[in-house]
Amino acid sequence: MPVVLPESLGASAADLSAPLYAAWQLTNECGLSCRHCIEGSGPGRAMPGELSRDEAFRIIDQLLAAEVPYVAFSGGEPLLHPHFFELLGRFRGSGTGLKVETNGQNFDAGTCERMAKCEVKSVQLSMDGTTEESYRALRPGASLAKVVDGIRGLRRVGVAVEVNFAPTRFNVGQIGAAMDRAFELGAYAFYTGRLIRAGRAVDFWDGLAPSEAQYGEFFGIVKAKALEYEGRMRVCYHELGIAGELRYRVEHPAALIIILPDGRVKLINALPFVCGDLRRQNLREVWGAYKTAWKDLRVARFIDELERDPDAVGKLHEWVAL
Ligand code: SF4
Repeated sequence: MPVVLPESLGASAADLSAPLYAAWQLTNECGLSCRHCIEGSGPGRAMPGELSRDEAFRIIDQLLAAEVPYVAFSGGEPLLHPHFFELLGRFRGSGTGLKVETNGQNFDAGTCERMAKCEVKSVQLSMDGTTEESYRALRPGASLAKVVDGIRGLRRVGVAVEVNFAPTRFNVGQIGAAMDRAFELGAYAFYTGRLIRAGRAVDFWDGLAPSEAQYGEFFGIVKAKALEYEGRMRVCYHELGIAGELRYRVEHPAALIIILPDGRVKLINALPFVCGDLRRQNLREVWGAYKTAWKDLRVARFIDELERDPDAVGKLHEWVAL
């Protein structure tokens, strides 16, 4: 579940003494092996050297001390992390805006209640489709019914829900119905955008990626639905390619760090650059390095390369330390 930057957090990093948002990929382990997964997550795919419980606690304590207002846990599947609820519980009473991004396959009534007790502000679930058939074509072995049950369970205990939809050639026509369903289920935000050719998606690309004609129709429906639900469900979508978004970010780095399962810190999901390591450095050092790293010429060159050759996005996991 790659992290999606909330629109409200587009604030520039330059003048801040700490990030506004930490997006933390807790583990690369996942119970699913989705065909489009840009992280290549799956069963047995935990990253070598993932942080221990105590190391993760030390990072949390720094986030708390720096009063980072928003923290999102993703993966892989964060609920499969052996200390997931303990880590969430460390934030209790702090007022931190906690978000969890999940595939929604591991929810029961107890899980929803624990989320509420840990004061989780919102949970983002993947609901890319309105039929089990298309959902499973993208996420083999997964259950759409479980996602729907998870959303209902979370709403019952008062946890806000956001929905993510990855368009492919076999679910692209379901976007309107999926947005309606998300709203009916009580979602307050809906995220979608072009599929990214990275990770496992590279292997399945020809059978996955919608055609330009399909995208045209898809975004037409997304825009119409965004108007229809204005003020009732926030609709966020990225219609342009990654390069355009990155050009903007170079000029206006968001106040957001991405923490990898082993403690290293990435600039942004769509770039392969690592600017620090919270296992070895403190948050202040890493934050300083983050702000400088955006000006590194290698970042600009990579974006140029991406514009010339969109397949360069396949290098996202060949991490380069700046
Ligand atoms: S659920 Fe998310 S993290 Fe897991 S394999 Fe699917 S896309 Fe990847």
